[in-house]
Amino acid sequence: MDLFEYQGKSLYGNYDIAHPKSFLACNTEDLEKDFNLDYPVVVKAQVQVGGRGKAGGIKLASTHEELDLFSNEILGMDIKGHKVEKILIEEASEIKEEYYLSFTLDRSEKKYLMMLSAKGGMDIEAVAEENPDDLTMVHINPAETLTDEVIKKAIHNSNLNMMYENELLKIIQSLFRLFVEGDCDLVEVNPLAITSNGVMALDSKVSLDMNAKYRHEEFDEIEKDIPIPPSEKSAKEKGLNFIKLDGSVGIIGNGAGLVMSTLDVVAAYGGSAANFLDIGGGAKAETVSAALDVLETDKSVTSVFINIFGGITRCDLVAQGIVEATKGKDLKWPIVIRLDGTNAIEGLEILRANPNEKIFITETMNQAAELAVKGIN
Ligand code: GDP
Ligand code: MN
Repeated sequence: MDLFEYQGKSLYGNYDIAHPKSFLACNTEDLEKDFNLDYPVVVKAQVQVGGRGKAGGIKLASTHEELDLFSNEILGMDIKGHKVEKILIEEASEIKEEYYLSFTLDRSEKKYLMMLSAKGGMDIEAVAEENPDDLTMVHINPAETLTDEVIKKAIHNSNLNMMYENELLKIIQSLFRLFVEGDCDLVEVNPLAITSNGVMALDSKVSLDMNAKYRHEEFDEIEKDIPIPPSEKSAKEKGLNFIKLDGSVGIIGNGAGLVMSTLDVVAAYGGSAANFLDIGGGAKAETVSAALDVLETDKSVTSVFINIFGGITRCDLVAQGIVEATKGKDLKWPIVIRLDGTNAIEGLEILRANPNEKIFITETMNQAAELAVKGIN
């Protein structure tokens, strides 16, 4: 589960990781509270997307008037499709150098991965691509500890300022403790900055491993503060296995494996999926209908791809479900269907006997993906 910056920073507090003093505001009335920060302050949009600075979501305010002005501008702002509901107001730091640090899992190596770079503050993907030598990568065996020697070597190899070696060592060890003891999938600090007040974590991108929820009471509280997309909420109420994604092709399939390959085939044709939705084996009319209702709540959907491979699931029942769910309905988007497996012939007959100008039947999964991505002309 991906956290907001302010949530990641509240975890910093538990591990003694130096970060700026801050105050969280949800509206301009909150700004009248006594938040006891020294000006200048930085106003930061709380959205789960990078590049906030460039989008106008980070502003430096030197007075209360400026704070009011910038907060008004930023609250409610749309940053790459994310609406700003909260702002974090932080005491501004005087930055001397900006570094990059992250801990994550390298699943193929079955190890933790630490990444460190002197080129912080900017897009780390670009650094990795253009100047891979500027990114120090260290694998850590999860059964062993991360020693000071290994960190010192990484600090040295990354050409960080050696005057701050001990402070960097301390904060990196603390961030690693947060990563391991806090059961995180990701702890990313960009920038990890040398400031006039020492080394500080100025940003936070933390993702929690929700499988470890049973041993972290705090996960529950954090989860409550993360808004659930309307489509996910609706799916949960209907008992569907649904995950919201960023693309535009709505996906309905039966079986997790088939749905995963449906996402891949959509990507292979240059599209991207709006969701993962597995209607399971034995899907019936009500389930198909519920699945279509869920996709209706997602404004980013522009086409829908229904991919059914009948095993236990009978294609004729799914077809019946699609007909019942769509009959006489003014569909918002075209639906492309691929039916194969048990009773596919009967299923296709049912669909053909009940034509709908927005429903398209294809022979193969590839054809369906292409049609769903490139559109129907
Ligand atoms: P992101 O762009 O969404 O990753 O947001 P960050 O929190 O990383 O901030 C982006 C940039 O804003 C940083 O790299 C800094 O250059 C600048 N910035 C953030 N906080 C401060 C601050 O307290 N003082 C100053 N001078 N700059 C800051
Ligand atoms: Mn950042």
